[in-house]
Amino acid sequence: MTERVAIVTGAARGIGAATARRLASDGMTVAVLDLQEEACKETVDDITKAGGRALAVGADVSKAEHVQEAVERVQADLGEPAVLVNNAGIIRDNLLFKMTEDDWDAVLGVHLRGAFLMSRAVQKYMVEQRYGRIVNLSSSSALGNRGQVNYSAAKAGMQGFTKTLAIELGPFGVTANAVAPGFIATDMTAATAARVNMSFEDFQTAAAGRIPVRRVGQPADVAHVVSFLVSEGAGFVSGQVIYVAGGPLC
Ligand code: NAP
Repeated sequence: MTERVAIVTGAARGIGAATARRLASDGMTVAVLDLQEEACKETVDDITKAGGRALAVGADVSKAEHVQEAVERVQADLGEPAVLVNNAGIIRDNLLFKMTEDDWDAVLGVHLRGAFLMSRAVQKYMVEQRYGRIVNLSSSSALGNRGQVNYSAAKAGMQGFTKTLAIELGPFGVTANAVAPGFIATDMTAATAARVNMSFEDFQTAAAGRIPVRRVGQPADVAHVVSFLVSEGAGFVSGQVIYVAGGPLC
C-alpha cells in the first residue's frame, strides 16, 4: 500500500478509533479527528506505539470553518488527504411526537451536514491527485427504526449522498461507498441500552439472538470492511452500500 493520508472523523473512540488503527496498520498516515483534540490522544498513541503515523485534530464536523481549518492542517502537517471516512455521529432518540427540532437538527447536522462539509473540503485534494476513497457510515437504521426518525433519515440520506459522490467524483479516480453497520458494541449502543433501562450485557445478548451469526458486531468488524473499500485494489467498487450486520438486510 502506498503511504496515503487518511482522515477518519469521530475517531476518538468506537468504530472510528478502530478504523483509524486499522488504516494505520494498513500503512496509511492517519488524521484522527474528533470534537476535542485531547480526546484523540489515546487513538494516536495506539497508532504511534504500533509504529504508525497519526495526528490528533480537534474539529466539529458540522461547522464549516472548523472543517476548513482541520483539512488545511492535515494537508500542511501530513500531506494531501486521499482517504476520508465520514464516521462522526450522534444519536438523539425519541418517538416522533416527542422529538424536538433541536434533536432533529443536531443529528442531521453531524451526520449529513458533517459528511457534506468534510467531503467538499477534501475532494479538492483528491481531484488534484486523480485518486481518492470516501467511505460514509450509514446504518441498518436507514431501513427504519422506532425512536430514530432523525437518525434513520440521516443514515438513509448518507446512502443517496454516497451514490451521488460516486457519480460526480468517479471521473477523477475517486470512489465513494457506504458501510451500514447493524448492532456494534460501542458507547453508542451502550447509551441505547441505558435509554431502554437494560444492562448493556443483557441488551447485547438479546440483540445477538436476533442476528443470524448469533453475536453482536465489534468495531473491528466495520474497520475490516472500510479497509477493503479504501484499498488501492477497490477502485472498481463505487456507489455501493455494504451492510455489516451479521446477516442479510434489505
Ligand atoms: P460513538 O462511540 O458514539 O463515537 C462517535 C464519535 O463521534 C465520538 O468520539 C464523538 O465525539 C464523535 N463526534 C460526535 N459529534 C461530532 C462532531 N460534531 N464532530 C466530530 N466528532 C464528533 O459511536 P460509534 O458507535 O463508534 O459510531 C460511529 C459511526 O457508526 C456513527 O456514524 C454511527 O451512527 C455509526 N453506526 C454505529 C452503529 C453501532 O451499532 N454502534 C451502528 C450503525 C452505524 P464525543 O465523544 O466528543 O461525542
